[in-house]
Amino acid sequence: MFNNPLKQLVIASNNQGKLQEIKSLLAPLKIVVSPQSDFNIQEIAEPYHTFVENALAKARHASQQSGLPALADDSGICVSALDGAPGVMSARFAGEPKSDQRNNQKLIETLKNQSNRSAYYYCIIVLIRQANDPQPIIVDGSWHGEIIMQPRGEGGFGYDPYFYLPTFNKTAAELSAEEKNKISHRGKALARLVESIR
Ligand code: IMP
Repeated sequence: MFNNPLKQLVIASNNQGKLQEIKSLLAPLKIVVSPQSDFNIQEIAEPYHTFVENALAKARHASQQSGLPALADDSGICVSALDGAPGVMSARFAGEPKSDQRNNQKLIETLKNQSNRSAYYYCIIVLIRQANDPQPIIVDGSWHGEIIMQPRGEGGFGYDPYFYLPTFNKTAAELSAEEKNKISHRGKALARLVESIR
């Protein structure tokens, strides 16, 4: 798919949790992976209703500003009892400025009287060779679990302390980084990306 070997790419994110996971999952490609902050690229608005549109907008912006191939992740948590919300709004569920703590508080408050606690994380990854690339590589991944009312664990980021995995009897925040990367929405999407590039 890439005629010239991919040597460097910029990640269109300032989210430290995401950046760490993406960097370690792309390690097999042995390329230089730089966060957009290395190029003083600011985050842009994410006005769209679909993950893929938001991911494309972020990747294009980062590629345009850096002149490099760019990778963007757009992701979120989709809760069944909330008809898939917060979904694309996950980062700003409790409004601006973005706050994981307020988002989590709002989530458990909203689910207080709901018996259905099932939820899944969803992640779209977009990779473009240049800002106007007509053939972006687009991969996705999802990860199913349940929302619990008491946080558990110190790892991960975002909603992880409340995202419970019955088969592990752990929340995502109680998994090691390696364990999370093997089974998460982002881990699955990036494994597909690495496969597709190779
Ligand atoms: P965006 O893709 O920058 O719009 O934001 C994604 C948001 O979804 C994050 O800020 C988190 O709130 C949530 N999210 C996505 N992936 C994860 C994850 O792996 N763990 C916890 N929260 C996540």
